[in-house]
Amino acid sequence: MKYRSTRGRVTGIRFKQAVMMGLATDGGLLVPHNIPDVSNKLAAWTGLSFEALATQIMSHYIDDIPAEDLAALVKKSYARFDHEKVTPIVSVGDFYVLELFHGPTLAFKDVALQFLGNVFEYILDEKNENLNILGATSGDTGSAAIEAVRGKSNINIFILFPQGKTSPIQEMQMTTVLDANVLNIAVEGSFDDCQMLMKDIFSDLEFKSEYKLGAVNSVNWARVLAQIVYYFYAWYQLDKPAAFDVAVPTGNFGNIFAAYLARQMGLPINKLILATNSNDILVRFFRTGIYQRGEVCFSESPAMDIQVSSNFERYLYYKLGGSCAKVTEFMAGFIDSGVARLDFNTREFDETFLTGSVSDVETLHTIRQIYEEHNYLVDPHTAVGIRVGRQQRTAGIPLLCLSTAHPAKFEDAISRALPAIEPHHPRLQVLTDLPTKKENMAADVSLVKDFIRRHAAV
Ligand SMILES: *Cc1c(COP(=O)(O)O)cnc(C)c1O
Repeated sequence: MKYRSTRGRVTGIRFKQAVMMGLATDGGLLVPHNIPDVSNKLAAWTGLSFEALATQIMSHYIDDIPAEDLAALVKKSYARFDHEKVTPIVSVGDFYVLELFHGPTLAFKDVALQFLGNVFEYILDEKNENLNILGATSGDTGSAAIEAVRGKSNINIFILFPQGKTSPIQEMQMTTVLDANVLNIAVEGSFDDCQMLMKDIFSDLEFKSEYKLGAVNSVNWARVLAQIVYYFYAWYQLDKPAAFDVAVPTGNFGNIFAAYLARQMGLPINKLILATNSNDILVRFFRTGIYQRGEVCFSESPAMDIQVSSNFERYLYYKLGGSCAKVTEFMAGFIDSGVARLDFNTREFDETFLTGSVSDVETLHTIRQIYEEHNYLVDPHTAVGIRVGRQQRTAGIPLLCLSTAHPAKFEDAISRALPAIEPHHPRLQVLTDLPTKKENMAADVSLVKDFIRRHAAV
């Protein structure tokens, strides 16, 4: 399989290059030259374990890692999940929940980042090179990235987070990791300050290449690829229905884009139900064709407090018939003015997607309702997906709602919804007694660069 950029200036590269490139060098996103149709393999894959199925699906997109190495990478990536099925489904009333939170940090990002961390290590070992990952986090992504690379000898990771502005649990999930290659930087400032610092540093191309800086953000193709797998595995767990709907709480359009690809590959997904919180740029787009940035609002589902979805451009590429010129024009217009429009006739637009946005009040109400009706506790992100899923589902076929975090990660929201309930998880409970490590720093780019110079893997 070869990969190309949605903007057309990078083409014909293979999987390992695509992983190391992350964002395409022309500013676009990397996509496979074609989407393989696996419908004639679905019967033969019946009964495979999560890991075996993952290896089969991924091998359609990876031809530069030998099969046995890929199988070993997959096995290692899911060994730290605390459920034998890795991503199990549970039946809740008249719908199903796909639990994606059984990884080390109890959030769905582990499914993709554990794999990405191991792929990075594998490629760097081969090339005998090092990598320094730099990231900024408002909470969840930081710990998932740290857990993905902790202890790896050829990777150091620097995570900038706003001191005192993540939840105490989120901070402990990062700072209790004492491995020498993990460097937490607590910035005196906001999440925006952290992102600004990161952008400043990445834009210094000389510094970036001298210290071999890389990112693990959600545009990396390996992350999308790893997320395709659990849609297939869920279908087998549902006993291979002729059709099913999936409901996905969405921020960066990564998770639901993987569902879109699974559908294109021949998995019989009927509707893709896209759910957002009040940051609803995607809902507005699918209803009007107008892609317009708004102000970011803070919500009860903070991992989806995003206005510009970084994976959206991949979808756009397919909707525009693979025309890099049209993608480039659309994105240039959007970057210039904060708004771009797709001209479509409503009847011809993408009927695969149904959408809805959910307020905070509705989110808390849904948490309460699901708990009271079914004795099943969901986190606020999952509640957003379930609410829209139940409203928009197709009658007569199964509805699969994706659960993206364990409720104990968001205990404040849970206590607002259900004051009598205290969610917990053993992995989080032990954190309070552990020693921590972090570097406090003013929001000053020269201080951060200096710290990287002193601690980079070179
Ligand atoms: C990142 C995240 C999401 C959003 O996923 P996208 O792939 O960005 O759409 C939803 N829920 C949780 C808990 C997350 O961490």
